[in-house]
Amino acid sequence: MAAALQLQLFLRVAFCALCGEMFFVCRRCERGQRYCGTACRQEARRRKCREYNRKYQDKKKGRLKHALRQEAFVQRQALARALKKVTDHSLEKRLFPGKLVPEQPARVHSMNRCWFCGRPGVVIPLIR
Ligand SMILES: [Zn+2]
Ligand SMILES: [Zn+2]
Repeated sequence: MAAALQLQLFLRVAFCALCGEMFFVCRRCERGQRYCGTACRQEARRRKCREYNRKYQDKKKGRLKHALRQEAFVQRQALARALKKVTDHSLEKRLFPGKLVPEQPARVHSMNRCWFCGRPGVVIPLIR
């Protein structure tokens, strides 16, 4: 039904410019988001400031890029450690033996939601 289609919320697929995470943004929340959330947006802004300052301190672009990569690497390591803590289900396994605990929340593609308002919607293919 055409009416049902109109009620569908369409989600744009986007990739966070900072952490690379795939996220969805609905038409209503669409503001050309480049980041998966507020945390990444703020971090990107902070980094841009730092990058700006660094450019003046170190004119060598190669070194700047290396420093940014290094920073990203360190942050990924920290994130991995944090996730490891979260996904440590040893206690849960003891409390609920035999219960299957997924390593990480599975991405359910049939129930994608806008990351900004949480409404479920249909993902539209990337249009360039
Ligand atoms: Zn992000
Ligand atoms: Zn939304």
